[in-house]
Amino acid sequence: MNLIHIAIDGPAGAGKSTIAKNIANRLDILHLDTGAMYRAIGLYALMNNIDANNESALEKALDDIKITVKYLNKKQQTILNDVDVSSHIRTPAVSNAASTVSKWPFVRKKLVEIQRNISNEISIVMDGRDIGTYVLPNANYKFYLTASVDQRAKRRYMELKSNKKEVLFEDIKNEIEARDHQDMNREFAPLVKASDAIEIDTTELSIKQVTDIVFERLNIKDENN
Ligand code: C5P
Repeated sequence: MNLIHIAIDGPAGAGKSTIAKNIANRLDILHLDTGAMYRAIGLYALMNNIDANNESALEKALDDIKITVKYLNKKQQTILNDVDVSSHIRTPAVSNAASTVSKWPFVRKKLVEIQRNISNEISIVMDGRDIGTYVLPNANYKFYLTASVDQRAKRRYMELKSNKKEVLFEDIKNEIEARDHQDMNREFAPLVKASDAIEIDTTELSIKQVTDIVFERLNIKDENN
């Protein structure tokens, strides 16, 4: 059986997860949001008062952190030490913690191993920062989604507001800029466009338009449409 692996990378709020989910639905395969896994480790650090910048403290804690991913009706559940934390990992504090823990190679190696193991078994659309460059360098298709920082901040703001979170637009924009800077400048597997990835600027595009553009680039027959 030929597996299909699709990598979708880009900065925070570019629409990666939404597009990845739509593409996975159209192809009737699963979607892995790798950011959720880094968020789960960030959450662990926050809950246990571990300074994510403290390399040795975090490395020591890593043995006590078990991250698994399950699917319920095709929806990803991110499990931290046997507890589904999916609904607790979307706050700005967890976003920051995720970006900080993700700079450490020992954290990345632990999660990348899980991500590659999943991809060995099944066809998947994976979204993150290093999927096309590091996790799945041989992916069949690679995309790099971008958008202006204002547009990305607006999307995150609306998303948090719709989940009844009290947030300020300026705070979200600052948080996204700081996270992008950290993600692009870390030493190990930074956020960078793979040389063979198709870049799409989504600033002026709707979710449907981006999904259609990505889908058109796939040389795969759509069984559902
Ligand atoms: O995609 P999301 O915004 O949920 O990711 C949260 C953080 O996790 C990112 O800011 C980044 O630091 C980290 N991350 C990563 N590599 C990935 C996915 C996410 O470093 N493949």
